[in-house]
Amino acid sequence: MPKKEPIKTASGLPPKPPVVVILGHVDHGKTSILDYIRQSNIAGKESGGITQHIGAYQIILPPAETKLSRVRQPADEGSRGEKEEILRPAKSGAQDDSATADRRITFLDTPGHEAFSAMRSRGAKVADIAILVVAADEGVKPQTKEAIGHIQRLELPVIIAINKMDRPGALPDKVKKELTASGLIVESLGGKIPTVLVSAKTGLGIADLLEMILLIADMETLSADSNKLAEGIVIESRMDSQQGPLATLLVHDGTLYKKDALAAESAFGQIKSMKNFLGEEIAQAGPSTPVLINGFNQVPPVGEEWQAMDSLDEAKTKTKAKAESEKKKREPAEIFSLTENQKVFNLILKADVSGSLEAVREALKAIPQEEIFLRVIKAEVGDINENDIKLAESAKARIYGFRVRGSQEVASLAERRSVRISLWQIIYELVQAVRQDASRLLTAGINREKLGRVKIMALFKTEGKRQIIGGRVTAGKLQKGVVADILRGEEKIGSGRIIQLQINKEPANECGKDRECGLLFESETTVEKNDVLEAFTEERVKREL
Ligand code: GDP
Repeated sequence: MPKKEPIKTASGLPPKPPVVVILGHVDHGKTSILDYIRQSNIAGKESGGITQHIGAYQIILPPAETKLSRVRQPADEGSRGEKEEILRPAKSGAQDDSATADRRITFLDTPGHEAFSAMRSRGAKVADIAILVVAADEGVKPQTKEAIGHIQRLELPVIIAINKMDRPGALPDKVKKELTASGLIVESLGGKIPTVLVSAKTGLGIADLLEMILLIADMETLSADSNKLAEGIVIESRMDSQQGPLATLLVHDGTLYKKDALAAESAFGQIKSMKNFLGEEIAQAGPSTPVLINGFNQVPPVGEEWQAMDSLDEAKTKTKAKAESEKKKREPAEIFSLTENQKVFNLILKADVSGSLEAVREALKAIPQEEIFLRVIKAEVGDINENDIKLAESAKARIYGFRVRGSQEVASLAERRSVRISLWQIIYELVQAVRQDASRLLTAGINREKLGRVKIMALFKTEGKRQIIGGRVTAGKLQKGVVADILRGEEKIGSGRIIQLQINKEPANECGKDRECGLLFESETTVEKNDVLEAFTEERVKREL
């Protein structure tokens, strides 16, 4: 068999499979789409079924159909065709045949959101392409808008997947209009954003979605050099009681070899075992391959960048240097100074894995902090324990748990110490809870509505701060008990309250336009003849951050 010519991109480097993140409102079908793609593109019998989720998986599509090759870039066409073999499903990260690399796609699996959050908070490049899932029967929802904001800020190429097309209430055209109104102008409405109609239930359109991803990847000319020492990003991590620190690494560039030394920002080590997403031990992993490794000295947080090094010593030195420079970068932000009117809301965060924790912290940034500073006094992976309760009590903090629990003993300790714990399964809901809880510290807003004006024509009596005065209502009306500004000319010189009203010497609750009345007025400022009192109603309104 003749040796294959490797495909090259404009940069002269071979193409790199795209890394794809799926975003969208809760329940619109992100997980279902990821599951459908996984089940229909990874042969169950070869893999023995994927038993563990490591935060990402990779598929290889069969060779392109003629229909698609026509729209692909001409540079790629020549090198495709007969030479291409029918590809086996992705089995091992060791495959790094550049002639096939452009038919692979890496998906950030659930909780892809968490890795994506790290991308936002650290500016680390995790995904190359975003798929925005919108349910055809529900349309654009708050989290859809949130996702659009992130996609636009990160300038990520995006494909819209309008899902649940099998449902009778599916209204894709309406969804497209809503998307356009939210800033994503889809192709059919004169914009550039491709849309694919899909159903994760029936599989409708999923193949088109995958081809669209490859097409966009081609247009983006993603490339990588598999001859370099590897580098990439941590997309999942946790402590395993038997194996120690485990991390899923995504290779961005270069090739990662088993036994490589690694330097992340807060951890270093030498790879002891390296597995692909099927749980198989592999010897090497090329660009865009996700691998599960152990060998780090401690758990590196999601979103940290790592590099392969020639030796463990070098890795250790590099990590130390990185940690130092990270510390310097963070210091100015951590030595915050509260402004005069800023209040502090203390909270403790607990989450199931470090990826979630990072995601929760990142999501909390959506809450404005000009008035209330959200101080996370502890953020930790693991169930809620007694120490958390004690700390919460002494710091007057509330505890928020994401996909964690607290034992019965912990719950009763919390109750005895009056510590509030709130547990959530959805980040968005946790953030809303923090928002509402912190909002209680806000001083209520006052909603003022103009009521009327009275021109003062007579002064009867002054006793300390109280005056009995008479006047004519020139606009609106007056009411007993309301507040009023004192205007002299058009200038406000003070304010006070109308304690009592009288019409024709009889007590009254209100006095209408063009009528005369007597007032008992209380103010620090003394009212004079010809002043005008402008009366208001005031309503206290609850505010939310
Ligand atoms: P996620 O929160 O965005 O990950 O949403 P899920 O994938 O968990 O889906 C939420 C619900 O919608 C589940 O009950 C799914 O079975 C259902 N669902 C997802 N995709 C489709 C679809 O294409 N058609 C129909 N009829 N139901 C779907």
